[in-house]
Amino acid sequence: MDFSPTAQYGKNVRTIVKCVECNKPHVLYAHHKISEEEFCLLQSFLESIEYTCSVTFKGLSGLSSFRKESDVDINDDDKKENNDGDTDINGDNEKENNNGSDPVAELFKIVQINKKHTCTLAIEKPYFVTRIFPQICNVCGISEGLIQVENELSYCEECHAYTSQCN
Ligand SMILES: [Zn+2]
Ligand SMILES: [Zn+2]
Repeated sequence: MDFSPTAQYGKNVRTIVKCVECNKPHVLYAHHKISEEEFCLLQSFLESIEYTCSVTFKGLSGLSSFRKESDVDINDDDKKENNDGDTDINGDNEKENNNGSDPVAELFKIVQINKKHTCTLAIEKPYFVTRIFPQICNVCGISEGLIQVENELSYCEECHAYTSQCN
């Protein structure tokens, strides 16, 4: 898999996912432009999960484990004692369809994420190079009180003060 996280590939997907721990955005990449339909599916999936850095969506068999739907269907209407066998089969109440392919899993055969970017690293360059995403501090990712440094990246006041000290 020759995957290179370029700005062009980022533009093909034109969406990001934010890490819930460090609040930094991750660009999603694809080799070719995804369709409107795929985009919508992707968006709704991303909104349904809590992403953390270094998670890729590749080859996930159980994507449903990422969904944060509150599993409150407690099936205590049936006592387990009624079961003759030892194995209680409760796979029927799962919403996912195990037959055939999960459209989201299919989508992530096309769409990729740069897992090298962890919470401690700065935000990946393509986020800024594509110029299609909101301006944020390139160090910490916040979007308020930004200072634009010449033609380069944006910093928040705090990170800007910190980096100027170092120079
Ligand atoms: Zn993170
Ligand atoms: Zn900052």
